[in-house]
Amino acid sequence: KRINGLLSRNFEAPILSFEFIPPRTDAMEQRLWHCIRRLTPLAPRFVSVTYGAGGTTQVGTLSTVLRLRRETDIVPAAHLTCVGATREEVDELARRYWDAGVKHIVALRGDSPTATGGYSPQSNGYTYASDLVAGLRRIADFDISVAAYPETHPTASSPEADLDNLKRKIDAGATRAITQYFFDIEIYLRFLDRCLKAGISAPIIPGIMPVSNYEQIVRFSALCGVTVPVWLKHLFEGTAKDPELRRIVSTMVAVEQIRTLQAYGINEFHVSTLNRSDLVYAIAHILGVRPMHQGASHNLIDSLEKMEIF
Ligand code: FAD
Repeated sequence: KRINGLLSRNFEAPILSFEFIPPRTDAMEQRLWHCIRRLTPLAPRFVSVTYGAGGTTQVGTLSTVLRLRRETDIVPAAHLTCVGATREEVDELARRYWDAGVKHIVALRGDSPTATGGYSPQSNGYTYASDLVAGLRRIADFDISVAAYPETHPTASSPEADLDNLKRKIDAGATRAITQYFFDIEIYLRFLDRCLKAGISAPIIPGIMPVSNYEQIVRFSALCGVTVPVWLKHLFEGTAKDPELRRIVSTMVAVEQIRTLQAYGINEFHVSTLNRSDLVYAIAHILGVRPMHQGASHNLIDSLEKMEIF
C-alpha cells in the first residue's frame, strides 16, 4: 500500500475568504489595494474589512468596503462593532451599507479602550453582539457573520456561558460564525463538537492567522486567550533575523493546519491577510486555489477526469 502525505492527497481546493485591515495612511492604502488586486483573482467567497473600535479606522472601513463594492466583483463584508456607539449611529451605518449594496456584516461587540478597564456598554447602545444581530435583522435581510471562540472569550464567565452566547447570536439571525484564530487543531475540533451538541448547526468557519510576525502573535495571543503551542515556538526559534525563512515556516504552518482540517472534512477558511498578499497567495497556491484566469483548477481537472477526458 502506498503511503502519501497530506499534500499529495486529492483534496478539493478549499473555499477561502480573506480579512483586510482598513488603511490609516496613503502608503497603507496602496499596500492594501496591491494586496486586494493580487488576491481577488483567487475568487474568495467574500472579503471582510475590520472595524477599529476606538474610532480611528471606522471611516476607513466604510470607504474601503464601498470601494470594494464599486471596483471589484467580490462580495465585501463590513465588520461592525457596537461598543461606544448609540443604536441610532450603528443603525444608520448599517442602512448606508445596505443602500450601497453591501449585504454582509460581521457583527461584533468590540472592546472598550483598554485604559477604561473592562467593557462598559453605551447607554442607548446595543450591549452585546447578539443584540446587534437582532438590530441588523430588523433593518434588512443582511447576511450576518459573528465571532466564535474555540478557546472561550477571555472575559466569559465560563465556556458554557460563552457557547450559550454563540447560540444566542445564531438564534438572533447570524448565518455563520468565524472563529478566533487558533493553532491547535484539536481545540477547534473539540469546540465544533460542543457546538453541535449545543444545537448550533450554522457553519463555524476556522479563522486562520498566518504567522508573519511570531513575537507579535505571542503577545496578541496572550491578550485574547489563544494558546501558542510549544511546537510553534520551536518552529520559529532562530528565525528572527531571517525573514525569508520565516515566510517559508509561516506558509508551511498555515498549509498544514488547513490540510489537516480538510482531512476532518472542513473545507472553508477565513484567512487574515494583515494586508500582505505574499504569504496568503503562496498558501492558497499550495492548497490548489488558483487565479480564475488560469482556468483549470483542481476541481475542473477532477470533473474532466470523471468525464474521462484525460
Ligand atoms: P459578544 O458575543 O457580545 O461577547 C462578548 C463577551 O460577553 C463574551 O465573553 C460573552 O460570553 C459575553 N456575553 C455575551 N452576552 C452576554 C450576556 N447576555 N450576559 C453576560 N455576558 C455576555 N474587534 C474589533 O474591534 N473590530 C473588528 O473588526 C473585530 N473583528 C473580529 C473578527 C473575529 C472573527 C473575531 C473572533 C473577533 C473580532 N474582534 C474585532 C474582536 C471582538 O470585538 C472582541 O473579541 C470582543 O471582546 C467581543 O466581541 P464579540 O462580538 O465576540 O462579543
